[in-house]
Amino acid sequence: MDAPGVRLVRRLRWMGCEDHVAPIGELVFENVRVPAENLLGAEGEGFKVAQVRLGPARIHHCMRSIGLCELLIELMMARAAERSAFGRTVIQYDTVQRWIAEARVELEQARLLAYRCAWRLDQAGHHGAWRDVSLIKVAVPAMLQKIADRAMQVFGAMGGSDDTPIHQALAWGRLLRIGDGPDEVHLRQIFRMEPMPDWSIANSPYLAAHPA
Ligand SMILES: Cc1cc2nc3c(=O)[nH]c(=O)nc-3n(C[C@H](O)[C@H](O)[C@H](O)COP(=O)(O)OP(=O)(O)OC[C@H]3O[C@@H](n4cnc5c(N)ncnc54)[C@H](O)[C@@H]3O)c2cc1C
Repeated sequence: MDAPGVRLVRRLRWMGCEDHVAPIGELVFENVRVPAENLLGAEGEGFKVAQVRLGPARIHHCMRSIGLCELLIELMMARAAERSAFGRTVIQYDTVQRWIAEARVELEQARLLAYRCAWRLDQAGHHGAWRDVSLIKVAVPAMLQKIADRAMQVFGAMGGSDDTPIHQALAWGRLLRIGDGPDEVHLRQIFRMEPMPDWSIANSPYLAAHPA
């Protein structure tokens, strides 16, 4: 940031939130020259370095989101058990029980996917784990958004207040569908890695096993 030509035009907030740890803003780069000794890798390989760094960063975001979903489930349980509406506690309503159970199903699926991704990254490095990183990058933020949305519904008006972190979880889930690369870019990557069968529909293994 000290290099001549780098200018901060203005600080920005995202969905009304200010990130004090990793602030964002509009930056201008005018004829910026960076001394050779500041190079982090070989010249011309910046994109590659960024991609390698992004793999673990994406898993890290997913891990934090999974932890956040655990908290959201705990919050839903506690609030629904305490709060009464129309003569019974909220936790006694089938709908609420179902939301919490579905959240648990989705969370455990996502956790296993994240474990497998981390294992692949350890075993096979960045290139071997590329597809797994994209899989969790798409799956986890969508899950977080869904669970946060349900949690807000369980809490009623209180869910949008600063007395809970639910609205921040919702915004974080929404951000992560764009951050770390938009979902659509990862979905394209996943589609491209889907193998094309070496048979046609007319000669499919199914028809061969079930002749007319
Ligand atoms: C607060 C904040 C923090 C962020 N932090 C990070 C970070 O730490 N690391 C990181 O990697 N990213 C981060 N991002 C995301 C990054 O800055 C970009 O926003 C993101 O890569 C998308 O680029 P863009 O905003 O220019 O959208 P655009 O490139 O203009 O894309 C807009 C939309 O077009 C569609 N689209 C674009 N490309 C394709 C494609 N190839 N195929 C199909 N559809 C496509 C998608 O729907 C996409 O949402 C952050 C974003 C925000 C808001």
